[in-house]
Amino acid sequence: MLDTLKRWLNRVRKNETAAPAPELWARVEARLPFLDFLPEETRPRLRALAVAFLGEKEFYGAQGLQVGDDIMLSIALQASLLILNRGLAAYRGWVGIIVYPGDFVVPRQVMDEAGVVHEYDDPMLGEARQDGPVVVAWFDGGCPGVNVILHEFAHKLDMANGNADGSPALLPGMSRRQWAEAFTAAYERLCRLDDAGIETILDPYATTNPAEFFAVASEAFFETPLSLRAAFPAVYAQLSAYYGLDTAEGEARKSGIRFAAEPDNPPEDSDDGTAG
Ligand SMILES: [Zn+2]
Repeated sequence: MLDTLKRWLNRVRKNETAAPAPELWARVEARLPFLDFLPEETRPRLRALAVAFLGEKEFYGAQGLQVGDDIMLSIALQASLLILNRGLAAYRGWVGIIVYPGDFVVPRQVMDEAGVVHEYDDPMLGEARQDGPVVVAWFDGGCPGVNVILHEFAHKLDMANGNADGSPALLPGMSRRQWAEAFTAAYERLCRLDDAGIETILDPYATTNPAEFFAVASEAFFETPLSLRAAFPAVYAQLSAYYGLDTAEGEARKSGIRFAAEPDNPPEDSDDGTAG
């Protein structure tokens, strides 16, 4: 299994024509239902980008994990989704992807104010390193409520113009001021709600800092876009411009959701400024 894709990649590198087996694409894509939120005509472009991604990046299995065809293709497709409208240049400057079989711990050291060094194990699902590899935990069947792959590659994009700070390089025509206003307001609102013990559609981990907010919101943009658009419309609009996709429309289309037309003559007492 592992070798089918590697053999194929070798043939691609030698300019021999070949293609991944249709059943491999079908099997991997079936486990990524949010790909169906894309317009159908973008699928060939996503696949081509994933293939180019596989040709450029290198995978390493940690703790004895065999990084097989399904894992490589799944990671490539999801990483490529984030750069569908940017191209591979957005991931320049690094090549490695380290895949762990499930969550892992990283030994850390911190020095306290008294100069005493404390060592501890930091349990992690992934880590994106500046100018270094992307490290991800792989779970067969995914990890409920979290998309580690989308999350870590969103960090990678954020880091491409400096430290991860929730302010990635924007596309021409986007406004840095509007981005900052939308994300700052949403981040502050999420933190207030979290302090009050109120759950939202975003994982509370997004309150950690603006970089995590961007990465978690990016997960939601692709996986649960209708919910993100309803809860944080300004952030959705910025991410839609940033990723060049309208995933919420795609989810609505896939779900068969039809929004009711405005009534011609709304009841006079209906506009009391509240929403049920
Ligand atoms: Zn993160």
